[in-house]
Amino acid sequence: MPIVQENSRYAPLFESVRIGPVTAPNRFYQVPHCTGMGHALPQTLVGMRAMKAEGGWGVVCTEYCSIHPSSDNQPYPNAALWDDGDLGNLAAMADAVHAHGALAGVELWHGGSSAANLASRAPSIGVRSMPSRYDPIQSQRMDRADIRALRRWHLDAARRARRAGFDIVYVYPSHGYLVAEFLSRSLNERTDEYGGSLENRMRLFRELLEETRAAVGDRCAVAVRFAANGHGEEHLSAQEAHDVVASLGHLPDLWDVVIDDYEEEMGSSRFFREGGLEERVAYVRKLTGKPVVSVGRFTSPDSMLGQLRRGVVDFIGAARPSIADPFLPTKIREGRLEDIRECIGCNICYAHDYRGAALRCTQNPTMGEEWRSGWHPEKLPPGTGGSVLIVGAGPAGLEAAHVLGKRGYTVSLADAAREAGGRVTRESRLPGLAEWARVRDYRLGQIGRMPNVTLFLDGRLTAEEVREFGADYVLIATGARWRADGVGRWHATPIAGLPARGVYTPDDIMDGRLPDGDVLLFDDDHYYLGPVLALHLAAGGARVRYVTSEGHAGAWGEYTAEQTRTQRSLIESGVEIEVNTALVSFDGSSAGLACIYTGRVHAAAACAVVLVTSREPDETLYRSVTGGAADDPEAGGAAAGRIQRIGDCRQPALIANAVYAGHRAGRELGRTGEAVAPRRDRVRI
Ligand code: ADP
Ligand code: SF4
Repeated sequence: MPIVQENSRYAPLFESVRIGPVTAPNRFYQVPHCTGMGHALPQTLVGMRAMKAEGGWGVVCTEYCSIHPSSDNQPYPNAALWDDGDLGNLAAMADAVHAHGALAGVELWHGGSSAANLASRAPSIGVRSMPSRYDPIQSQRMDRADIRALRRWHLDAARRARRAGFDIVYVYPSHGYLVAEFLSRSLNERTDEYGGSLENRMRLFRELLEETRAAVGDRCAVAVRFAANGHGEEHLSAQEAHDVVASLGHLPDLWDVVIDDYEEEMGSSRFFREGGLEERVAYVRKLTGKPVVSVGRFTSPDSMLGQLRRGVVDFIGAARPSIADPFLPTKIREGRLEDIRECIGCNICYAHDYRGAALRCTQNPTMGEEWRSGWHPEKLPPGTGGSVLIVGAGPAGLEAAHVLGKRGYTVSLADAAREAGGRVTRESRLPGLAEWARVRDYRLGQIGRMPNVTLFLDGRLTAEEVREFGADYVLIATGARWRADGVGRWHATPIAGLPARGVYTPDDIMDGRLPDGDVLLFDDDHYYLGPVLALHLAAGGARVRYVTSEGHAGAWGEYTAEQTRTQRSLIESGVEIEVNTALVSFDGSSAGLACIYTGRVHAAAACAVVLVTSREPDETLYRSVTGGAADDPEAGGAAAGRIQRIGDCRQPALIANAVYAGHRAGRELGRTGEAVAPRRDRVRI
């Protein structure tokens, strides 16, 4: 493999950098990011973090790591260093990261009023008594004794972190958590030395920094994660944030700089581009002279270099790019840029943590499977030989072909469409979704270099043709079609009396069959497609009314940090929004809309309705290839796994699910039993 030469273009990314008492081997820094694993899935977590280090990240951090039971984020499994019982699991992570020559960082965290402590049942504490983020529970106002106790807990946790082997220990005064509460002009009403002037409001932050440094600073670097532009005029103005950096800049060994708006900081590609934080964070390095890390969904080594050259950062920070490609640094180092699996900015990773489930990734199906399934993102088990026909080159079929090709099978991948990519190709043409095409492009790029994989386009295969093809294995990945009858979450049976004309599905719109006149779009799916189609139609000049059976537009987008901007973009594009409402009838000129609570119906004029309700798996080919015996493999139908269906034609779901299904099928083909059964990460009595 060609390795980047010392004088090559990207060599600056591979310089070692001193951070206080420790030295990072290069400038690739995996900043703290949630995983949905935390204290609950420790082995899964160790496997995942170790893979980042193996892939060349010079620093690998934990997620937010609670210092005390008064900061418990149930149902979200954060990391924890409450007592020595937590040492083993975190030491295992630090050891695994060290084994690959990387530094391990830990982000000590106290959630303050935000934490409802549903597991520990300890009262939450805050600078004043205020509601937790999600529950009707308020915090207890901290008195001086509580502040002293907090400082002691932080110190104890820092010492434990050191004993666990961490090299970088964070103080975390941002994202609205406890130390940020103290910094806030409006939340902090104290009249003692911890309230009032900025000097007083940052006293707790300063104390935690000084005490952490004194306790562990001989061996560990002390880092700070700080919103460089403050938290809005109400809490900490941009000028005040600047003053905090100016005043405390010398204390930490590293500034990890973020911005006030979390939804932008980890913004989805629908709304934000690569490298958008620069303007607001750039001053910190100049002001402090300390090493700085910041993020920006960097996947391009040239953008990374630009950050260094302009003196914005010393480290290229990443959460998502390191999730989508744990081997991003190695690939840059080896000059294999075409092998980089670029993050598409869909935030499915974040969404699963938010749902209380372990991290996963649309682009990287091995994410979270390192320990559980023994999957390595860059290594595959050799195949047992033979030929495979894959019908359907959507994300499931493409990923299966990619994996099977690398395993050495002779792969034929066929699609009825003129272009590969299935739903990804179609959806990526809609407003804001262009980066999603990376799911297709990465796989086409890989497949294109494999002589044993052939792609056939523009030909719909029949069952007869599949049989005649005579492949040893057949994978059916024919996808799903949007239903035109209204069946979905709200309607278990079709909406009665829908006319033949004027009813459209997302497939129609994506195929360019557009309605004329006023359009009513019924979103019973609740994720991105309804809002995105509404924007698409509005951009084409239609008057659009967006109706949803949920309480917000694109409600599931709450999990992907997109809901607020989704609703805002609809409002700003002139789309009328009606929530908590179901479409119950349509006659070609008027729609009946029912309140989901009272059932009361009112009429709305519309020449056309677009139904974004649910999808019907396209399993016709699978059924006919298996001769109707698909339900009973023993009867000879899908004999011994020779014929399988994967992706949306089996289970219409997220693109991430389709890629995962394709990957699993590709890895497991020809292997059975224990070799492929996922392990369970569980506590056993
Ligand atoms: P998934 O998300 O499961 O990958 P998609 O809907 O994205 O599913 O892709 C399915 C692909 O299968 C589409 O590109 C479609 O053109 C193709 N397809 C469906 N039926 C056939 C068939 N009989 N022969 C060839 N291609 C097919
Ligand atoms: Fe990027 Fe999406 Fe993967 Fe998250 S899930 S790392 S946003 S590709």
